[in-house]
Amino acid sequence: TDFGYQQVPVAEKQARVRAVFESVASNYDLMNDLMSAGTHRLWKRFTLSQTGLRPGQRALDVAGGTGDLSAGMCKQVGENGLVVLTDINAAMLAEGRDAMTDRGFVNNVRFSLANAERLPFPDNSFDCVTIGFGLRNVTDKAAALRSMQRVLKPGGQLLILEFSHPVVPGLKPLYDAYSFSVLPWLGKVVARDEDSYRYLAESIRKFPKQPELIEMMQAAGLENCKYHNLTGGIVALHRGYRF
Ligand code: SAM
Repeated sequence: TDFGYQQVPVAEKQARVRAVFESVASNYDLMNDLMSAGTHRLWKRFTLSQTGLRPGQRALDVAGGTGDLSAGMCKQVGENGLVVLTDINAAMLAEGRDAMTDRGFVNNVRFSLANAERLPFPDNSFDCVTIGFGLRNVTDKAAALRSMQRVLKPGGQLLILEFSHPVVPGLKPLYDAYSFSVLPWLGKVVARDEDSYRYLAESIRKFPKQPELIEMMQAAGLENCKYHNLTGGIVALHRGYRF
């Protein structure tokens, strides 16, 4: 199919996103390493360096997948803190729980099957909320931003790590060539799933540009919003506070 290239009705989008992540759940980590040549680890390390988390605090990892950000935050909050890893997809959440257990994080992590648009936590719950490569897949991004803002404690911050739009001259054509030919090919030979990785490339193109996401964050009530480009804007880390 060529569903990545046509307008997809909202109700259908969620089902498709679910199918994509069910299909990729088991080889998700391998594909991440191959697709980004390992660079996703650096993007995540930089994100973790910005959480400001201290021992005993609480963090929420939305769309946490296999838990790379959760694991880093578990170290930061320590045994007396808490990290809640959420994902909308049960298969991914199960992968996440296994991966966290393998890394030795058991006592200070909880798992919750949840939609980013309607987080099942009280207001003012978390010192830091992260969403890594997840907002792109959310159907109602404004609702997700409001929901993540709501569960932040006053003074807490939201960190959004997401594919973005290259800002370095000459990078865009190379990046387009990569994502529209190399990526689906990798998806085909490694994950036997060309369509899911075609969807990935298309969803990155449609994601709001850096300044536009800042405006959406502000509209959701986040303050002092800023972004930092990584790898020439292929990825960006957006930050906003709740005051
Ligand atoms: N954060 C992890 C990382 O950086 O490796 C996983 C990212 S993975 C590309 C995106 C995840 O978002 C998938 O596990 C998917 O199930 C989840 N997801 C998609 N839509 C969601 C939604 N509306 N609410 C919560 N999670 C969602």
